[in-house]
Amino acid sequence: MARMEIRQRDVDPQRLRDSDRFFDLADDYLVVFGFDFRIRRVNPSVYRGIGTNAEQVARRPIGSFIHPEDRSASLAAVEKARDVGRSTWQGRVLLGRDRYHWVQTTMVHDVDEDAIVLVGRDVTAEVELSERLRVRAETDPLTGLWTRQRFLAALDEAGADERLAVLFCDLDRFKVVNDSLGHAAGDDLLAALGERLRTVHDDSRVAMGRIGGDEFVMFIRGGDRADALSLAQRVRDLATEPFDLGGKRLHVGMSVGIALSTGSDDRSAEQLLGEADTAVYRAKAAGRGTVVVFDEEMRKQAAERLTQEADLRAALADHRLVAYAQPIVRIEDPSIVYGAELLVRMQMPDGTLRAPAHFVPVAEETGLISTIDELMLDVALSGLAERCGTQLGVNISASRIVESGFADAVLAAADRHGRDLSNLVIELTETSVLTDPSATMINLSRLREHGARVALDDFGTGFSSLAHLNEFPMDFVKIDRSFTSALPHDARTRAIVEGVLAMSNGLGLSVVAEGVETQEEAAALMAIGCEEAQGWLYHRPMPLDRFERLMVPDLTSAAA
Ligand code: C2E
Ligand code: MG
Ligand code: MG
Repeated sequence: MARMEIRQRDVDPQRLRDSDRFFDLADDYLVVFGFDFRIRRVNPSVYRGIGTNAEQVARRPIGSFIHPEDRSASLAAVEKARDVGRSTWQGRVLLGRDRYHWVQTTMVHDVDEDAIVLVGRDVTAEVELSERLRVRAETDPLTGLWTRQRFLAALDEAGADERLAVLFCDLDRFKVVNDSLGHAAGDDLLAALGERLRTVHDDSRVAMGRIGGDEFVMFIRGGDRADALSLAQRVRDLATEPFDLGGKRLHVGMSVGIALSTGSDDRSAEQLLGEADTAVYRAKAAGRGTVVVFDEEMRKQAAERLTQEADLRAALADHRLVAYAQPIVRIEDPSIVYGAELLVRMQMPDGTLRAPAHFVPVAEETGLISTIDELMLDVALSGLAERCGTQLGVNISASRIVESGFADAVLAAADRHGRDLSNLVIELTETSVLTDPSATMINLSRLREHGARVALDDFGTGFSSLAHLNEFPMDFVKIDRSFTSALPHDARTRAIVEGVLAMSNGLGLSVVAEGVETQEEAAALMAIGCEEAQGWLYHRPMPLDRFERLMVPDLTSAAA
């Protein structure tokens, strides 16, 4: 039998009345009923669906097929169809013995017959699917707590007219559990913690969700600072109790950030959660198991950070991040020994320059630092080094050096410019070397195989373990400026730098002193056998065209 579908907006009572064939063959449910709600006529789809026949159906009032909760809406739809000619309604209809189906209907007033013609389509599958999707989107499968989306919606609703306390709880040492015992154990831990946290649900003012890995969030309706602090304490206690996972006893902890709203300000749910997030970030920095309440000072910093991020994005888009170069000299002459370091600068629209201290931290937080590093690498490999006959140092951030594709990206950039890596120096800080030593090692080895060199930057400010010099493939050590400036008058610093020099010489590493500003410092460095330096005493960081003229004086005379 040919399948027939009626487009609901095309329902035409006249046509339905006149065409029995159409009426009988339609897959849709067709019902004609009067304003006494007696059914006058149904098509086979209806009575087959119910498992009966047309006569039996006709004996019952139409309302008896409709789910009690949906009856008033269906009545309203009938009235609307009578008054304006047409209406739609979706609701649960009894089809079969006791099973309700979701049916989407269009009702049309048939004026000639003084009846309603209803065309319905079974949408149970659609409705159930969207319900499943909704539950899935709102419930974290691991803990059964709300998802970020659901939590924010509830927070938004609650915040409209109420005092609120928002808690952002971040598990301490979760990464260690995940890394050492595996993700499955990590999941078990989160599920067990979720179970425990549910016990604070006995307070009906508390709503709770899990919004990312080990981040649990809560809010207290009507909650003030004292409520928040006592809930934070409870949560911390719950997390600190050891967990028993597959026979292993695990100890973790919880840091909590709190944001408070009086209900009268206009902060959005997202802003409040962001403030609690900032506070927990502080809590983490202050040490594990700490609770921090967001305050005015943090608000200012958060606002400033947003401005900085916007400035940075604008500068990237407008190509206003440029490379400056600072030569490295042999202290003795002081001639430029092997090269220079590239340092990024932000050109502001008013013509001033901004130093990295103003935008590198925010670039690191947002991941934009990779783009900056890429830019500087591109400059270093563009041919500048070859024209100047120098090596060029490029600072590479911790997040970039651990990326598995980093070495390939550098090689590809060199390829693009038709260069090799023999004039490239990668500058890394101790901290970044230690972020993920094995990933870093893989990248460094690969780059060194292709001729690049590696410098350990800011030496002495990180973990200052001389052992790293040994373990990592290095070529230069750059001693931090704090040592350089203390050297002339501090015997302990002198002893340390002498030790570093001895060890570096033993390993065949060159040592460069950073930030030399005075002759006195230069003399002190010479006295202990440090021969190379970088600093304002010799050259400030300069634009590349000036650097090029400095390195290739002929350029100037040729142009003159
Ligand atoms: P760094 O790599 O240790 O660079 C040396 C810093 O010391 C530079 O600061 C330089 O201008 C400054 N300096 C040089 N000589 C003297 C001196 O005699 N006295 C004083 N007081 N300072 C001197 P700058 O350019 O502000 O850069 C600061 C830091 O920002 C750099 O420290 C580096 O860690 C980071 N940085 C700069 N450019 C980039 C980049 O392209 N990528 C990444 N990831 N970091 C960068
Ligand atoms: Mg550097
Ligand atoms: Mg440095």
